[in-house]
Amino acid sequence: LEAEVSSVDSCPREHGCRWRVATTAGTNGDFDVVLLTLPVPQMLALHGEALHSAIDEVEGLREGLCKVQYSSRFCLALFYHPADAAAVTLPGGAGLAYISNDSPFCYLALDNIRRGIDTSEGFSVMVHTTRQFGASNLEQTEEAMLPVLQQHFSKLMPHWPPPCHAFCHKWRYSQVTDPVCKEVNSNDGSVSLRGGSLVLSGDAFTSSNVDGCLTAAASAAAAVLLCCRAGNHFKYCAPFTKRFSLAGKTSASNMTSF
Ligand SMILES: Cc1cc2nc3c(=O)[nH]c(=O)nc-3n(C[C@H](O)[C@H](O)[C@H](O)COP(=O)(O)OP(=O)(O)OC[C@H]3O[C@@H](n4cnc5c(N)ncnc54)[C@H](O)[C@@H]3O)c2cc1C
Repeated sequence: LEAEVSSVDSCPREHGCRWRVATTAGTNGDFDVVLLTLPVPQMLALHGEALHSAIDEVEGLREGLCKVQYSSRFCLALFYHPADAAAVTLPGGAGLAYISNDSPFCYLALDNIRRGIDTSEGFSVMVHTTRQFGASNLEQTEEAMLPVLQQHFSKLMPHWPPPCHAFCHKWRYSQVTDPVCKEVNSNDGSVSLRGGSLVLSGDAFTSSNVDGCLTAAASAAAAVLLCCRAGNHFKYCAPFTKRFSLAGKTSASNMTSF
């Protein structure tokens, strides 16, 4: 749909598909199978009587989903002129550093070095805050945190020149700290509802690292395939590539856009 999903509900019977997905832009799409991989609190905040009654059909699932916890982080993005490349460096020419002193930051990356990009048109540096800093400042806005983080950063790297541009980004749902518990995580990485026509997955069902994302993606893909093979889905909608609603963008969701 390439839009923000606002609701997942049942589709009127005469339309053939099982699910009607609505977006905040006011558009609708009808689908045989829906795979949701957005952060669990955002999943639970979606509208749709059928979505919520499907969740409530599995004993303990809503309670399990409500217990999922995430850490929160701010990222400070700094942009530099090409002329500053010689001054903006890390010891040994490293592309990243983990920060373990009293700073609110825990991670710093020189994007050009990490990605092997030359600095002739400028370059950027990304700095992530610690979980503790994210938790203490969760309700602060990005605008309010920008000068605070810039001030901390100038103390961390006093010899670096000031950037020509900077912005702050907040991840309210950054990495999963308490994933969906085993008791309700029925596919070990996804949960199939309504005969598998509604699949819930994403890193909340595993862990927020590469292994966790691959496991969630494989589990979600297997759940969708099982549903396709078991039932008589897809006899109504065409073409094939339009039969999936993907509310999510990265690893887990990408695996299912076959
Ligand atoms: C700052 C940070 C650093 C990280 N560092 C690492 C690392 O170094 N190594 C590592 O392995 N992992 C890292 N992770 C974790 C990794 O990014 C996640 O585990 C991974 O992205 C999870 O993939 P996913 O597809 O499950 O969910 P997500 O990538 O969270 O995708 C969910 C998608 O759903 C979309 N969405 C939300 N609401 C809606 C809606 N209503 N409608 C439509 N779409 C919606 C979101 O925009 C998002 O694109 C990091 C995460 C963060 C935030």
